[in-house]
Amino acid sequence: MMDLDSLDKLHEECGILGLWSKEPLAVGELLVLGLQALQHRGQEAAGVVVSNGRDLLLEKDLGLVAQVFAPGRMRRLELEGAHLGIAHTRYSTTGSNLRFNAQPLTARSSKGILAIAHNGNFINALPIRQRLLEGGAVFQTTGDTEVMINLIARYAHLELIDAVDQAMRELQGGFSVVLTNRETVLALRDGGGVRPLVIGTLPQGGFVFASEPVAFPLLGASFLRDVRPGELVWIEGDELRSRQVLSVKPTPCAFEWIYFARADAKINGLEAHQARVHLGEELAREGAIEADLVVPVPDSGIGAAIGYARASGIPFDYGLYKNPYAGRSFIQPTQAMRDLKVKLKLAPTSVVRGKRVVLVDDSIVRGTTSRHIVQLLQEAGATEVHMRISSPPIRFPCYYGIDTAARKELIAATHDNEAVRVYTRADTLVFLSEGGVRHATQQSVCLACFNGQYPAGVPQGELEKLSLERS
Ligand code: SF4
Repeated sequence: MMDLDSLDKLHEECGILGLWSKEPLAVGELLVLGLQALQHRGQEAAGVVVSNGRDLLLEKDLGLVAQVFAPGRMRRLELEGAHLGIAHTRYSTTGSNLRFNAQPLTARSSKGILAIAHNGNFINALPIRQRLLEGGAVFQTTGDTEVMINLIARYAHLELIDAVDQAMRELQGGFSVVLTNRETVLALRDGGGVRPLVIGTLPQGGFVFASEPVAFPLLGASFLRDVRPGELVWIEGDELRSRQVLSVKPTPCAFEWIYFARADAKINGLEAHQARVHLGEELAREGAIEADLVVPVPDSGIGAAIGYARASGIPFDYGLYKNPYAGRSFIQPTQAMRDLKVKLKLAPTSVVRGKRVVLVDDSIVRGTTSRHIVQLLQEAGATEVHMRISSPPIRFPCYYGIDTAARKELIAATHDNEAVRVYTRADTLVFLSEGGVRHATQQSVCLACFNGQYPAGVPQGELEKLSLERS
């Protein structure tokens, strides 16, 4: 099956949710609704855990949220007196796309039943797992999330909060986590705040934790604040408690604003759409050109194209129509069909005929899609196509929860900018600079996939996608 949802994009990592309510309510339904708002963060598997303080129900499977939680299956999440739960939508960054790797993960431990949902990567998962295996630990999955459960369980003599605190200190990388022991819900974030996590309040009393605040309106929740980098929060009584566990050096993922987060999501106080408009404005300054039209690659390039048009004074127009029904195709993914996938998804409109077009997109991964889109516009009569990319060239892998293609597949890792331009057949090509990203976001962002400087370190030993499986 060919996935046309994201044409040659970096893959989003995962979306996580946690909910604790003072009053019993339909936790399962609410979490499924919230997960649908986070669907863009992972389309391979979905899962929900609910609890009433005694019993715990878990439903998870491979597929989109609406497929996993079809009406018949929703009934399996009905639990009398349920007032808390956690949920996860997954794109596999470690471990294969297998059902047993779907989350939340649950385990019986010295702390009773624990359920955990995780977004990101623990870069030192492999050596910790090896150490735990040598100490007699048993693992049921091939992902890195289970390493955290095992670490927590090892601190049998400590209260849960202190055990989680200790585990946080041992783990490195970019991560956000929600977990529950049936009594409380905990949420935590790595010291750089690489992966996002926000807190909302429920009107009847209670709290929600989510990767992005876009889930809150569906839960009736109001935005309270971001979980701070390195912070551990939990519910005690009906109060939100907090502990600053890790020292803080904020390096949030630049790609959340460039592409991953939903346009209406506010992360660290900055809405993704606004950030994309600012990125486009910066790009217009760095990549000025005489042209007649600014055309976005829908949907990912829209915000930056608006910014580019605004700052350059060149009119914005929809020069590419995106077919909303071409999400997935059951056509066999032969090379010939792969070449057609852009045509299945995008079609040029007549506005480009006879025009010098500035084509704006958020990133170039392999370059194949950009090449096809430039060709589409040229065939439709565009006289010039000037590609403008609202991020720097991607040259390095991400170790913090984003599935970058293998380095040899990243066109900018093996070609200079002029060679990328020649490959895409664009008349000119300009990538936004790292300074431009910092200026547009006004944050000390992680830019490791652009410059190879990893703020939270690099894996100890290989942590390629399947390395835990091989171990
Ligand atoms: S390496 Fe790139 S994708 Fe990964 S966290 Fe840093 S900015 Fe985000």
